[in-house]
Amino acid sequence: MPNFQQIINRIHSDLKATKNTGEVADYIPELGKVDGEKFGIYLNNIHGDNYEVGDTQVPFSIQSISKVFTLAMAFASQGNELWKRVDVEPSGNPFNYLSLLENEEGIPRNPLINSGAIVVADCLVSTLKNPKEDFLQFVRGLAGDDSISYNLEVAESERKTGFRNYAIANLLKSFDNLANPVEDVLDFYFHQCSLEMTCEQLSNSFFAFANHGKCMKNKQCLTEKQAKRINAIMLTCGFYDEAGEFAFEVGLPGKSGVGGGIVALLPNHYVITAWSPPLNPKGNSYLGMQALEQFTTETKSSIF
Ligand code: GLN
Repeated sequence: MPNFQQIINRIHSDLKATKNTGEVADYIPELGKVDGEKFGIYLNNIHGDNYEVGDTQVPFSIQSISKVFTLAMAFASQGNELWKRVDVEPSGNPFNYLSLLENEEGIPRNPLINSGAIVVADCLVSTLKNPKEDFLQFVRGLAGDDSISYNLEVAESERKTGFRNYAIANLLKSFDNLANPVEDVLDFYFHQCSLEMTCEQLSNSFFAFANHGKCMKNKQCLTEKQAKRINAIMLTCGFYDEAGEFAFEVGLPGKSGVGGGIVALLPNHYVITAWSPPLNPKGNSYLGMQALEQFTTETKSSIF
């Protein structure tokens, strides 16, 4: 077995020494306050071993990584009906792309870009009794950690500046692909994006996707089919218009967020989370992408 600790230590120190040309996202003002020097890598494997280096215990805004959790929850309750309202094709477009017109039916390309995630949020607002509380409990259950919470300042900051997300939600509504009021759906969406988690908590919460749906405590948190389907969507759609690049460089299913986090996993083997806030022009962590590329290259563990 490769020496994971040594490998992540080396990747971390090598990359820390390079010039980081990424930029911290500040289009959500509250996100712009984060320390751009933070950098952590956390890996847990299927046998329960874990390895970490750097800022792995600092909570950060998970942003779009939350789209995987809402998708898992909505798919569990709606089953294949969900795919009538959101497709599973890569978009090749930025995360906040507005056009839903290509199919003329207001069906977003996939659930991991904003338009698709807003439809998924609508499903959860319709089906959950207390949407924000129930969703939080679901994520805490996946991670096995009750300390995970929303950052209400980030949610509010996003609400105040979320003009594009309002535009997307209104467009979806005009196509009759939102059952609930735009305000209610976006309130839920902004909260899910504001969830704060550490690298360790993220790795733990994605364990079920690497382990046929079973969480760390061996509880069946997701069905095997959910895990398989969602991994496929992560592989093809997890990085917006850089999904091809991520498959090319890293070769794992994964998901990024504009908070600078990336979670990726090798089914049956491990989950790895990298966090470094400065982003490349496509909105993915500049160092995180490189860290994962080096990791799968050195450990020969891309799925390809
Ligand atoms: N909350 C962010 C937004 O909707 C999420 C974007 C992201 O992480 N890519 O703009």
